[in-house]
Amino acid sequence: MKIVILVLIVVSATAAPADFVLVAHGGAGNYGEMPPAAIEARRAVIIQAVRAGYEILSRGGASLDAVEATIRVMEDSGLFDAGRGAYYTREGVPELDAAIMDGRTLGAGSVASVKHIANPIHLARLVMEKTPHVLLVGPGAEEFAKSQGIELVSPYYFFNEREWNQYKKAVEEKKKTSALVREDEHGTVGVVALDQAGNLAAGTSTGGTTLKMPGRVGDSPIIGAGTYANNQSCAVSGTGVGEFFMRNIVAADICERVRYLHVPVDQAANDVVMKELVDQHGEGGVIALDRQGNVATTFNTTGMMTGTVRADGKIIMKGWSKTAEPVIVPAAK
Ligand code: ASP
Repeated sequence: MKIVILVLIVVSATAAPADFVLVAHGGAGNYGEMPPAAIEARRAVIIQAVRAGYEILSRGGASLDAVEATIRVMEDSGLFDAGRGAYYTREGVPELDAAIMDGRTLGAGSVASVKHIANPIHLARLVMEKTPHVLLVGPGAEEFAKSQGIELVSPYYFFNEREWNQYKKAVEEKKKTSALVREDEHGTVGVVALDQAGNLAAGTSTGGTTLKMPGRVGDSPIIGAGTYANNQSCAVSGTGVGEFFMRNIVAADICERVRYLHVPVDQAANDVVMKELVDQHGEGGVIALDRQGNVATTFNTTGMMTGTVRADGKIIMKGWSKTAEPVIVPAAK
């Protein structure tokens, strides 16, 4: 009898479809000011990016590879505050930050304040895999990139008219108000993934906050602040005003609540983003994912666009407003 039961359990375990999950975000902020065509364009890129990650996970690939591939599509698009579309510093030149983390090994790599790297997420991964360090910054990071055969791009690679116009407008405003400000502050990109082997990974890539001081580093490349992954708890990528995420070690705090307090990942994300950050007026949001495939997409801004895909092959797009109906599209092209 015992043998029969055992056989049944084995059969049902192998018959279940292997599970995996990937969630991507395109930054927390105010989508209210954004023209519908621009929202649609961003949605299309996130769908394309999530498809790249899905393709890897569905054939049994690693969450780390899926995170990198998904982020690269968004970096290359020029539509987000990452890679080609990065926001400008107040000197008019983008400085980019990125991090990636492997929840299985706690391996982590980041780069900050790089000016000539088209895909900072890839360089972050090389820091993780090819150096004994976690974080490389500025010229040192770029020297390392060259040693790895990465071609350095001119700052003109990052030129885009939308950002340049925003920059000029903000500089004009500054003459009147003495502050450098702009309205649609969002566009950092991040991804969390769980692969069929049950391993979590997280990554984040950004040009930082708009019109930041040259040399300013945000939360995205700081492990535990804007990016974190640990198979013992969860994977998180944050977006928002990085100074708050650093002071509150947001990504690590969410994961440690899951790990030590045993609260569900959505409650942990909610308690940190909707209570602690809100109390401090820290704007932003997170995507979080645990090993059981539970997902939280939590933001205290008016929007945070996300795309989520599971083994069922449906990409669920939502978050450009709190009330927007989700759009569901197939993951297979
Ligand atoms: N968190 C990023 C930073 O502070 C910016 C953002 O997510 O919008 O650099």
